Amino acid sequence: MIPAAFEYFTPSTLSEAIALLEEHGDEAKILSGGHSLIPMMRYRLASPEKIVDINGIPDLEYIKEEDGYLKIGGLTREVALEDTPMIREKYPLLYDTAIMIADPQVRNVATIGGNIAHGDAANDHPATMLALGAEVVATGPNGERVIPIDDFFLGLYYTALEPSEIITEIRIPAADGNSSGTYKKMERKVGDYATAAVAVQVTMNGSGPAKVGIGLTNVGPTPIRAKRSEELLVGKPITDELIKEAGKLASEDCSPTADLRGSEEYKRSVVSVLTQRALKIAFERALSS
Ligand SMILES: Cc1cc2nc3c(=O)[nH]c(=O)nc-3n(C[C@H](O)[C@H](O)[C@H](O)COP(=O)(O)OP(=O)(O)OC[C@H]3O[C@@H](n4cnc5c(N)ncnc54)[C@H](O)[C@@H]3O)c2cc1C
Repeated sequence: MIPAAFEYFTPSTLSEAIALLEEHGDEAKILSGGHSLIPMMRYRLASPEKIVDINGIPDLEYIKEEDGYLKIGGLTREVALEDTPMIREKYPLLYDTAIMIADPQVRNVATIGGNIAHGDAANDHPATMLALGAEVVATGPNGERVIPIDDFFLGLYYTALEPSEIITEIRIPAADGNSSGTYKKMERKVGDYATAAVAVQVTMNGSGPAKVGIGLTNVGPTPIRAKRSEELLVGKPITDELIKEAGKLASEDCSPTADLRGSEEYKRSVVSVLTQRALKIAFERALSS
């Protein structure tokens, strides 16, 4: 289908973009990579009257470590995570997530900011950002606002962003030598959205974890933090029984719905298995780093 008619703006500065969003309110939508918004417009699931294309705004594409954070510019393309050696070496959870998203054509254009802003629990970055304890920097008419990731996803396609706010940066606590993680995704075919997926990030203190982050993809209306599994593991020596129990708790704490990708029961069992696999890999990686 052809999208409904819209007015198209190409601001060249952040303040110009914010002014346009403020002026047009709910009628306007930001366009970054366009790989979620344009399909929705073509299916007429979204019909914004104004499009504010932010691709011409400079200095929003970067990956750098600074002030104790890994900072990712809001317009950074998925492919940049794959192509940055520091990400593969120090932030394997981010690398493992990026390579599971869609296909290279999509990743060349889609942005990390857009992936999060879309508020789709089927997207892969939201659960990963939960596991990493990220913060979202939203810039709007009143300047910058930092939103902890746990406060960001409010419902299906619904986030804490105001209509005139743009994600300008994602901040992740900088890797120390004791942390690592991975992303495990079950998909029907290469490039598909997850049947279910699990993001795990651990920080070790001796043989036990001092910190555990577990995020679940596409098994509820929002990405889900597997809180009880995290709490179970912290401060305890790692055993197979403990990992199994963490998988079980994660499968109980999600709320999948049956669809073409599988029944509710099947998805819960995928969550249990992937949680266990991801935890084992994350612990191994963190202990050998
Ligand atoms: C064939 C196909 C397969 C895909 N498979 C996967 C997959 O397996 N896993 C996955 O995670 N994703 C997948 N995607 C989605 C893809 O990663 C999207 O591009 C991404 O989710 C959205 O990023 P975008 O830059 O394209 O955003 P856009 O489509 O431009 O925007 C998406 C939404 O976010 C808003 N927005 C965009 N940028 C910002 C910003 N900086 N600040 C505030 N709001 C903003 C827009 O207004 C819009 O509402 C797939 C897409 C396609 C087409």
